Amino acid sequence: MTHPPMAPTTPLPIARETGELRAAITAWRAEGLRVGLVPTMGALHDGHLSLVRLALEKADRVVASVFVNPTQFGPTEDFAAYPREESSDATKLARAGANLLYTPAVETMYPEGFSTTVTVDGVSRGLCGDRRPGHFQGVATVVTKLLMRCLPDVAVFGEKDYQQLQVLKRLALDLDIPVEVLGAPIVRETDGLAMSSRNAYLSPEERDVAPTLNRTLRRVAADILGGADVSDCLEWGMGELLKGGFSSVDYLELRDATTLTPLDEAPEGEARLLVAAKLGKTRLIDNIAL
Ligand code: AMP
Repeated sequence: MTHPPMAPTTPLPIARETGELRAAITAWRAEGLRVGLVPTMGALHDGHLSLVRLALEKADRVVASVFVNPTQFGPTEDFAAYPREESSDATKLARAGANLLYTPAVETMYPEGFSTTVTVDGVSRGLCGDRRPGHFQGVATVVTKLLMRCLPDVAVFGEKDYQQLQVLKRLALDLDIPVEVLGAPIVRETDGLAMSSRNAYLSPEERDVAPTLNRTLRRVAADILGGADVSDCLEWGMGELLKGGFSSVDYLELRDATTLTPLDEAPEGEARLLVAAKLGKTRLIDNIAL
């Protein structure tokens, strides 16, 4: 059987300079349109595209940015190796309905003499904040710049990076940036593994082990909700991950869903169970609501 050819998609306009970005947004604003922003580091998958779709429900025009931000990678992390796939990213974004790809060069983002860093205290503490020193400063600084360059009505981030989402909500609130920061649910593979650009690093054997992360989270969450002791459940979960083939567990913690305060008892309000663990050299994160 032959399949009909896929409908051609109009190529997505690409802005590399801030002036081009601002000109497009100014034209939309002149028509009275609402603007959405979806910041990414590229190597796009369905998780990223779900953010574009959510942004399109909230805004008339959507800018997706692709910028592999050097300042959010630690010295031993994968900045150089991080996948860069501009042309397939542009095709995927066009199909998802984005209106503009903004992909600035590093020198445009951090020109000579750049000296400002945005630090969000509180929610940045612990979890990835402890394990990746400087990471959230890098994220907060680049997202502040993207928000100032775009001035969108709404900016969409994934719950996949749950602590990051809370950091960015706090940032917009504290700095009076007039943008609605929205979180989108985690998009998963059919076996439960959260989609991530870093999943491409996994060997076939590691890929087989990877769904244990989500399976363990779900089991620990169910046990906590069933009344089991929180610290026993967390200890059991970490043991399961190591037994299942993970090389190390950075953290498995129960936290308040908004303030990210650590919880050592079954929650009364909304809570989140968050995990980061290494599979060989690849660090995977996941989280679920309780
Ligand atoms: P990244 O390109 O990894 O920096 O991610 C860009 C945005 O996409 C962030 O807001 C992430 O939280 C979000 N994201 C990444 N993976 C997923 C996923 N599987 N489901 C939903 N959102 C995601």
